[in-house]
This record gives sequence, C-alpha cells and structure tokens, in this order.
Amino acid sequence: MSRVYNFSAGPSMLPESVLKRAADEMLDYQGSGQSVMEMSHRSKVYDSIIKEAEALLREVMNIPDNYKVLFLQGGASSQFAMVPLNLFNKSKKADYVITGQWAKKAYQEAKKYGEAKVIASSEDKTYSYIPKLDKSTFTEDADYFYICVNNTIYGTLYHELPDTGNVPLIGDISSCVLSEPIDVSKFGILLAGAQKNMGPAGVTIAIVREDLIGNAMDITPTMFNYKTHADNDSMFNTPPCYSIYMVKLVLEWVKNEIGGLEKMKELNEKKANLLYDFLDNSKLFKGTVVPEDRSLMNVPFITGSDELDAKFVKESTAAGFVNLKGHRSVGGMRASIYNAMPIEGVEKLVEFMKKFEEENA
Ligand SMILES: *Cc1c(COP(=O)(O)O)cnc(C)c1O
Repeated sequence: MSRVYNFSAGPSMLPESVLKRAADEMLDYQGSGQSVMEMSHRSKVYDSIIKEAEALLREVMNIPDNYKVLFLQGGASSQFAMVPLNLFNKSKKADYVITGQWAKKAYQEAKKYGEAKVIASSEDKTYSYIPKLDKSTFTEDADYFYICVNNTIYGTLYHELPDTGNVPLIGDISSCVLSEPIDVSKFGILLAGAQKNMGPAGVTIAIVREDLIGNAMDITPTMFNYKTHADNDSMFNTPPCYSIYMVKLVLEWVKNEIGGLEKMKELNEKKANLLYDFLDNSKLFKGTVVPEDRSLMNVPFITGSDELDAKFVKESTAAGFVNLKGHRSVGGMRASIYNAMPIEGVEKLVEFMKKFEEENA
C-alpha cells in the first residue's frame, strides 16, 4: 500500500490513525456486532457516539454552554439559506463582506429573503486580501453580520475579527475549523462543512447561540429551522451517522494525539511557514495573497506562466503530490495543508518545488 500526499481543498486528507481505527472498527464497532453504518440512529450504542462527538467538540473548541451544537446535512451551502431564514426576524437586514466565492454565494442566497448589503469586497484584486472594514459603514440595526473566516479558494484568513457590537457575527469556518483556537463567544453562529478539516463529507456543523434559535421566518422549511434540530438533539430525522462517527475519531485525534488546538496551531504555523518562506524567496514561484492576510490552511501560488504551472501540476502529480491544481476560477496552484497533512508532506513538497525551480527558472 502506498499513500500520496494529498493537497486537496476538500474532501481532503484524514489522519492515518483515524482511518486505521475506522478500518478496525468497520465490521464490529466495540463489540456491538455491527458497523456504525448499519446501526439504528436511535440505538443506545449510536447515541453514545453522537453524544461523545458533541462533548469532544465542546471541549476541544471550548464552546460556551449557551451555544447549541447541531449536526446537519446539506453542506455549508445549505447554511447560506439557513442563516437568513433563521435570523431575518427584526429589520430583515444583514451586512456581508465579500472575500470570495463562498461569501458571495452566501450573500446571493440571503438576498432572496431580506435586505443583504455588501459592505466591503476584495473582488477588485481577485480576493487576494481581506478588505479593511470601516465600522461607520455597518448597518446598525442589522439582524446579523456575515463573514467567511478562511477563504478556501483564495487562501486568505481574517487574523482579526470585525467588532460588530450587538449585531451577531456569523462565521463560515468550513476550511479553518479545528486549525487553531477560535473565540466562539465572539460569534452568533459558526458553521462548517466537515470535509475540509474534521471528517468526511456529509455532515455540517452549526454552533448556534441559543437566543438566535426559535424566531425563524414563517416560510422556513422544517428541516431548515435550527429549532427543529436543537429541540431534537440533531435527531429530528436520520443524521449522517457515519460521518458524525468519523468526526468523533478526528476530535479524539486532535485531543489525544495532537494535544488540543494550541498545539494544532503550532503545527499548522510550522507547516505554513515552511511553504511561505520558500515562496517568498523563490525565483520562480510566488504566493498570490498579501502576507498579512495569509491562510494557514490554503496556500495558492503561481509561476507567472500558464505553461510552467501546467508542467508543475503534471510533474508534481507524477511524483505523488496530488491535487495541487488551483481552483478552476483562479488557475495556478494551491496547496491545502489541513490538519491531517503531516509536516513531512510539506517538507517534501518544498524540496520538489526547489528542484523544479532549478530545472525551470
Ligand atoms: C467548501 C466550502 C463551502 C461549501 O461547502 P459544501 O459543504 O460543499 O456546501 C463553503 N464555505 C467554505 C469556506 C468552504 O471551504
């Protein structure tokens, strides 16, 4: 068996020990005589899995007690509708900062239900920076304020959060969840699809402050109402059972093998710095994001020549570094170095890039 270094933006690498554990438990989960895939979600044994997953997430992310943790389906993309449907209940106004495709999609969805306003955007420079925000432009009576914290496609990250006062801040953290500590209490809602940094596709996690639950718009479908899922401990209908189980294993790995989010951050900074230092000193490659807004998770870079980019993608793939092609909307390359990417993967990638540079510069 040989495994590649997978730089996919999502679904992405999972820790090898997690995959092995899942394999070990595949046919007989802890003496139950069944796979987790086969269990009734109402069974006692499954109940302990979902409860443990929630408890671990609360512990690892230090989630305050006045927040509900919901295990949902429909991807982060469904949250683009769920957020406005649940929160447009006073002024029906919301502010959006457009830092890439995901924020833009969220904004376009919100416009269907209320008065969503773009208060800043970095579209003018292909989203290569996080726009500076001017508080005087914020809508005072907005029902919420929306940001995408880590921009997966463009490789930018908010290193400082906007101060929105009493207006609930909503953060899409699909591609940075569990990568470093985050102050949950600064947010009204945090949302994340699992397939970037917490498990396989199929489960989406929403961390929702309790006072924001229970006032959804009348038109809200039952399944899109946070209250439905909060009242039923994410068991209103069949939850994505196996994906939740995998998230539990990943959380155990973060807690026990890594040692928590402070440690995770250290490791992620080490990996990202290796790559950014190389890019900053390279004669051939160059990062596309302004240094102060760089992501720890997604690192886009270019050579400046479409032919060389294509050659690099081809040769790196052949050498066992896969999924380095940039998003179809921006071209170039992108290395997604999520939690599960070992430091050796980044070291070897940098070595490979050095060699490519010598041969092609
Ligand atoms: C991948 C991604 C999404 C979309 O997630 P789906 O689960 O595919 O709907 C949304 N936001 C961010 C930041 C992402 O990285």
